[in-house]
Amino acid sequence: MKRSFESLGLEPKLLRALDEQGYIQPTPIQSEAIPAALDGRDVVGSAQTGTGKTAAFLLPILQRLESGPRRILRALVLTPTRELAEQVLNSARAYGRHLDLKCVSVYGGMPMEPQVRALKEGVDIVIATPGRLLDHMSRGYVDTSKLEVLVLDEADRMLDMGFSRDVHRILDSLPTQRQTLLFSATITGEVDRLAHRALKDYEAVEIGRRAEAADGIEHFLVAVDKPRKRSLLAKLLEALPDNRTLVFTRTKHGAESVAHHLRREGNDAAVLHGGKTQSARNEALGRFKRGVTRVLVATDVAARGIDVDDIALVVNYDVPRDPEVYVHRVGRTARAGAQGIAMTLMSPDEWLMMRDVEKLLGRRFSREIVPGFEPAVTPMQPAELTQRPRPQGPSLRPRRGAAPRR
Ligand code: AMP
Repeated sequence: MKRSFESLGLEPKLLRALDEQGYIQPTPIQSEAIPAALDGRDVVGSAQTGTGKTAAFLLPILQRLESGPRRILRALVLTPTRELAEQVLNSARAYGRHLDLKCVSVYGGMPMEPQVRALKEGVDIVIATPGRLLDHMSRGYVDTSKLEVLVLDEADRMLDMGFSRDVHRILDSLPTQRQTLLFSATITGEVDRLAHRALKDYEAVEIGRRAEAADGIEHFLVAVDKPRKRSLLAKLLEALPDNRTLVFTRTKHGAESVAHHLRREGNDAAVLHGGKTQSARNEALGRFKRGVTRVLVATDVAARGIDVDDIALVVNYDVPRDPEVYVHRVGRTARAGAQGIAMTLMSPDEWLMMRDVEKLLGRRFSREIVPGFEPAVTPMQPAELTQRPRPQGPSLRPRRGAAPRR
């Protein structure tokens, strides 16, 4: 049964903000993590970017902070990079737009002064990279004595980037009575040790760990250079005229531009992504379901709630960064034992990502080339992939008989 945000126990001001964001239903990590976090439990979530993990930790925090005093630091989010800090800040402001809470981000590479001013004015939520936060803490600009919730976001990346000592120093100075939420793409040994140090009796939430693709799916990998993907897609759709087709792109912008190109080539294509209004999304989906439009171009998260049978062809316009996303995408075809085709357009910069997908599925797929769309470099075939690639270019070892260098 599909859950609604309401059934997760979120309050009306948050539900309103989510509605305004165009979110229809929670993603799996949200369904699992939000109730546990609202209960006050510690949570370890293994989930990649793109799964909706940010809302999974922000919504319970916002709900908790809605009651109680204002302008006292009660929640802290640690992120590995300033880009992620900014992203989390924007999401916190979007989801919390009907609450009177102040969020600021502090990270390195920017002048201290504006951050100090913002901190001195009083804040409810700080989103920070570890090094810069420690700077502010050591100068007395951040008072963590009333902290109630700590989030360690992308913990694996934070440790990979060498923030382990900083994170531990921060942990040492926080109240021990607090709620801690840790998110990580993978739970490595080091992340596990951090979780044991920072969390108590936590709920572990895993999203799509054991991935398997349905048996009835035929996978095709088509090697093509990036600029030619659009024309190749139009050609493929022409060659398969009777199939209801779902095309996945990584970004909203990508979805729009692919759909635009397909329309120019005479295909009727609808678009579904998070930047569209709710009514535009319903309309696009409705037309696709009724078979009025044969092709739907969608981003991963927007496509999550799609429940359409007999999609014969799924096209990965780009290779997803997270191999599990591949499994979710192609799972849209060959439902309930039916046959389906999953076609991936793969540019040379995506070959390695495709190998990660193959590793996850434990299979290798042959690389196809469509005449007229040959890529500038030829992809390696499965047999070659399993052998060690031969070094390219001239050997640097001295040839036998060559005069020794002096
Ligand atoms: P994240 O994994 O937190 O980086 O989120 C990835 C993207 O999904 C962001 O653009 C969010 O705005 C969007 N998103 C998060 N939750 C939902 C949802 N329940 N429905 C639709 N979009 C969502």
